[in-house]
Amino acid sequence: QLPVIYFVTPTYPRREQIPELTRLAHTLLHVPRIHWLVANDYERCDTYMDMLLNRFGIPFTHLSSPMPHKFRSTKPAPRGVANRRAALQWIRQHNLTNGVLYFGDDDNTYDLRLFSEIRQTQRVSMFPVGLIADYAVSGPVVRDGKVVAFLDSWVAGRRWPVDMAGFAVNLAYMSLYPNVNMPYKPGYEEDLFLRSIGLHIDQIEPRGMNCTEVLVWHTQTKSKKAPIVRLEKKFLDGRSN
Ligand code: UDP
Ligand code: MN
Repeated sequence: QLPVIYFVTPTYPRREQIPELTRLAHTLLHVPRIHWLVANDYERCDTYMDMLLNRFGIPFTHLSSPMPHKFRSTKPAPRGVANRRAALQWIRQHNLTNGVLYFGDDDNTYDLRLFSEIRQTQRVSMFPVGLIADYAVSGPVVRDGKVVAFLDSWVAGRRWPVDMAGFAVNLAYMSLYPNVNMPYKPGYEEDLFLRSIGLHIDQIEPRGMNCTEVLVWHTQTKSKKAPIVRLEKKFLDGRSN
């Protein structure tokens, strides 16, 4: 039987949330043996989100994972970190040592071939991500079937200068590292997460025709930056008058 892919999606309330999740769900609906961990940056698991996720018919878990208040005002804020930490905690709590973990944000674009590429990950697989920063791509450099270096326009002293969507991890492998961690350090989440699972460069499994194919893109939806909380407040104020 195919290993299950645990697809972790950080998401947060804003006017684009429902369309982003709908689009992503319509990708995931094509994928067999997937468990969608939807971690919402919100204080509770609201019924509306539950109903939406239920309607898609994809096996899912809905987690409430608000960003700690003290980080909300920091710039840059650690976007999606509380969410991914909650998913890691959920995986630990359920003692999952089978399957493959992938961090897939709600606004990226996924080629369906990505899922067959990552499903057989033994330890950590890596592959390029399109539309990252100045080079418009970030990914491993492969020689003779081995990862030997990384191409990324913002290396910034990182040992693993890769994007969150550019790797997948086997859960049996991850379970060997009880101190697996994703700290609140904007820009360094991938690096510190991969450091926490004792990765060696020789062990990386290159995917996507030896990292020559882009199967995931860091697309970003143009946003109006109008927080839903303010809309709710206006609505409630209007009602009380
Ligand atoms: N995110 C979140 N809370 C926030 C901002 C973002 O949970 O306050 C989520 C968002 O839904 C996405 C991930 O964190 O899945 C990364 O955020 P974003 O796409 O805004 O960052 P970028 O892709 O620009 O680095
Ligand atoms: Mn994004």
